[in-house]
Amino acid sequence: VVGGGSGGLACSKEVAVLDFVEPSLKGTKWGLGGTCVNVGCVPKKLMHQAALLGTALRDARKYGWQIPESQTAMAKAVQNHMKSLNWGHRVQLQDKKVKYLNMKGSLVDEHTVRAVDAKGKEMKMSARNIVFAAGGRPKYPTHVPGAEEFGITSDDVFWLNESPKKTLVVGASYVALECAGFLAGIGLDTTVMVRRIALRGFDQQMSGLVTVYMEAHGIKFSWKCTPKRVKKLPSGLLQVTWMDLNTTEEHQDTFNSVLWAVGRAPETKTLNLEKIIVAADEATSVPNIFAIGDIAEGRPELTPTAIKAGRLLARRLVGRSTELMNYENVATTVFTPLEYGCVGLSEEEAERRHGKDQIEVYHAFYKPLEFTVAERDATQCYIKVVCLQEGEQRVLGLHFTGPNAGEVTQGFSLGFQCGLTYEHLRNTVRTHPTCAEELVKLNITKRSGLDATVTGC
Ligand code: FAD
Ligand code: NDP
Repeated sequence: VVGGGSGGLACSKEVAVLDFVEPSLKGTKWGLGGTCVNVGCVPKKLMHQAALLGTALRDARKYGWQIPESQTAMAKAVQNHMKSLNWGHRVQLQDKKVKYLNMKGSLVDEHTVRAVDAKGKEMKMSARNIVFAAGGRPKYPTHVPGAEEFGITSDDVFWLNESPKKTLVVGASYVALECAGFLAGIGLDTTVMVRRIALRGFDQQMSGLVTVYMEAHGIKFSWKCTPKRVKKLPSGLLQVTWMDLNTTEEHQDTFNSVLWAVGRAPETKTLNLEKIIVAADEATSVPNIFAIGDIAEGRPELTPTAIKAGRLLARRLVGRSTELMNYENVATTVFTPLEYGCVGLSEEEAERRHGKDQIEVYHAFYKPLEFTVAERDATQCYIKVVCLQEGEQRVLGLHFTGPNAGEVTQGFSLGFQCGLTYEHLRNTVRTHPTCAEELVKLNITKRSGLDATVTGC
C-alpha cells in the first residue's frame, strides 16, 4: 500500500505500507496518518470547536456565568493531539505486524514499486497487488504572481507557530469556508474571496444560509472577485490586488496572511502516473493495481469513504469477502460557524433528475432551544427534506443547518440506507427537546407557500 492516510492505513491493516510526507512549499511537515489526521478533519474540527467554545463563552455569560477574559494556547494543544495520533497509528501498525516504511513510492512496473527515503536511500519492492492511497495536496493558483511565494494552504494553517492575523481566504468550498469560520471564530479579521458561488455542488439555498450566517458573524466576503497578484510590502504585510469580475475593476488591500483554498490535486505525478481511473472494485486498467481515497478520480474526497473503501478492498484481496464499496448517499457536513449537514440530493439535483412537479419539499425554520436564553439569532437554522411526491414519498435529500449538524445527519443517513420515506419520518416519535426532532415534525411543503417558521414547544 502506497500512502498511509485514511484509506491506506485501513487497507494495510489487513500487509506493508509506505508513507512519506513531502513538506509543503512553506516547509510544513507532519507524521503518519495522512491528511485527515494532520492537515484535515482532525485539526479542523478541533479549531472549529475552539471557535464554537468562543460562542459558548458568550452564551454562558447570558446564562449567568461570570467568566474572566483569557488567552488560550489553541494551536499547541491541537498540534499535540495530532502528534499523539501519529504515534497511535505507528503503534497500531506494529500491533498488527504491518511493515511501515517511511519512504516515498513510485511505480516501476505492474508488480514493482521503487521506495526512496528522506536521505535518498533506495529499494525496490515487489508485490502481487499494489494499492495506491497517496491522497491529494492543495493546489496553488500558479497564474497569480506571488501566490506560491507568499501564500499558505491548509497544509500549513494548522501547524503555524504564530497567529496568521488578518487573513484573506481564497476559495469558497469546504476548506475555504471551514478555515475562514474557525479563523474568524478565534477573533481574527477574515475575508473570503469567492470567484463564482459558494459550496458548488451543494444545495444552493443551504449554501446561502451558511454564508449569510458567516457574514452576519463578522466574516467579510468579496463576491465575484479573483486575485491578480500578491506582493510583500517592506512592512511585511501582503498586498493583494484582485479584480471584480462584474466590473473588471481592480482593488487592493493588505493582509498578514493569504490562504489558498482553491481545490486539491491528486498525488499522481510522484507515482509516475497522470490520472487514476478506477472501476467499482477500485481496480485500475492494470488488474493487480488498485487505488482508493482522494487519489482515485471521481471518488468523494472524504475520510470515511477512503477508510471503508480501503478496508473492503483489503478483504476482497485476501478472498475474505466480495463486498463492494457503496458510494451512494454518503452523509457529509461542512463545519462552518453554522454547521451544515446533508445526505442525498440537493433540491436542484432532485429537480433535474425527477422533474420539479415530481418533487415535494418539506421545510422548517426553527429556533434551537439553547439559542433562546443566549439571545442568539436563529434566522439561518433551517431544515429541508426533498421527497418524491408519489406514494410513501421516498426521501431523496435531507439538509440541516444548525448545532451539531454532523451528529444529526449521521443518524438520519442510517435511515437513508434503509429506504427512508416521509411516512417514516412522520411515524417516528421525537426526542425532546432537540434540534433533530424538527426533522420528524416537518409538515409544511414549499409548494404550499405557507410560513415554515416553527413556533415554540
Ligand atoms: P491521505 O489521507 O491524504 O493520505 C495519503 C498519504 O500518502 C499521505 O500521508 C501522503 O503523505 C502519503 N503519500 C503521498 N504520496 C506518497 C508516495 N509517493 N509514497 C508514499 N507515501 C505517499 N473529510 C471528512 O470526511 N471530514 C472532514 O471533516 C474533512 N475535513 C477536511 C479538512 C481539510 C482542511 C482537508 C484538506 C480535508 C478534509 N477532509 C475531510 C478530506 C479528508 O481529509 C481526505 O478525504 C482523506 O484524508 C483522504 O484519505 P486518503 O487516504 O485518500 O489520503
Ligand atoms: P473544492 O475543489 O471542493 O473547491 C475549490 C474551491 O476553490 C471552489 O470554491 C472554487 O471555486 C475555488 N477556486 C478554484 N480555483 C480558484 C481560483 N483560481 N480563484 C478563486 N477561487 C478558485 O476544494 P476544497 O479544497 O475546498 O475541498 C476538497 C475536498 O476535500 C472536498 O471536495 C471535500 O470532499 C474534502 N473536504 C471535506 C470536508 C468535510 O467533510 N467537512 C472539509 C474539507 C474538505 P469555483 O466553484 O468557482 O470553481
